Amino acid sequence: VVEVTVGALNQPIGGLGAVLVARNVSAQKQVERMRQDFVANVSHELQTPLTVIRGFTETLLDNPDDPSARRFLELIHEEATRMSRLVDDLLTLSRMEHHSMPMRRQGVDVPVLIESVTVKLSPRIHSAGLTLENHIPAHMPLVAGDPDLLAEVFMNLVSNAVQYTPVGGCISLDMALDVPNHMVGISVKDTGIGIPAQDVPRIFERFYRVDRARSRASGGTGLGLAIVKHIMELHHGRIEVKSTVGVGTEFLLWLPEFESERDD
Ligand code: ADP
Repeated sequence: VVEVTVGALNQPIGGLGAVLVARNVSAQKQVERMRQDFVANVSHELQTPLTVIRGFTETLLDNPDDPSARRFLELIHEEATRMSRLVDDLLTLSRMEHHSMPMRRQGVDVPVLIESVTVKLSPRIHSAGLTLENHIPAHMPLVAGDPDLLAEVFMNLVSNAVQYTPVGGCISLDMALDVPNHMVGISVKDTGIGIPAQDVPRIFERFYRVDRARSRASGGTGLGLAIVKHIMELHHGRIEVKSTVGVGTEFLLWLPEFESERDD
């Protein structure tokens, strides 16, 4: 927007310049409002665990021999862990927004990457009473990208599938190819609670949650999908969501094939 406006101001003063300036001012106001909302959200997210930590430490200081002391310490530890996770996610987002995230671009073997992610998550999948079906073939075209960042994408999507799927459900992984466009698709699908249609467009916003209490209870920061969206943009990829409440959710990621990039 700024570039367009600067260009327009160099033109003889006219109606077009004025319209563009007006648009620029309202865009600036919107950016400022988003910044204020963001600061308010971060403060709130940090305030909640801090209140819990202060409450329990005060109780323990007043009464160190309280029979529930151990439980209180566990809760303090849990809240401190949540704060670390939030700060980690905020730093990741901030680095990506300021383009200071070092990004490699190499041929990434998706089946190998997915395998390493599912191995890490398998205790959680198992203890949540879920099954994982991995239909991704062992050999598929390499995608162009950064293996660490792409691992973070799959980690977030599979973790969410675990988080939002009731006991007995299934998470399935699949792949698709868009041959003419040299794109590789990877699907992460669950049989979980689903997302109401009106919320789907907003789930990639920072701190947007359909059910705040549920997200908090399972340790979510509300930043996972905002990070996923950024990483997909860095990769010139795209992400699609299909969801039906009470039936399940599918996230489909499209990433450019490595070979096609090299040919360009
Ligand atoms: P959170 O830490 O709350 O999970 P995310 O940014 O990862 O934050 O996701 C934002 C919101 O999108 C979640 O709070 C949840 O409401 C919804 N969501 C994400 N993934 C799923 C899923 N697989 N099934 C149902 N809802 C989901």
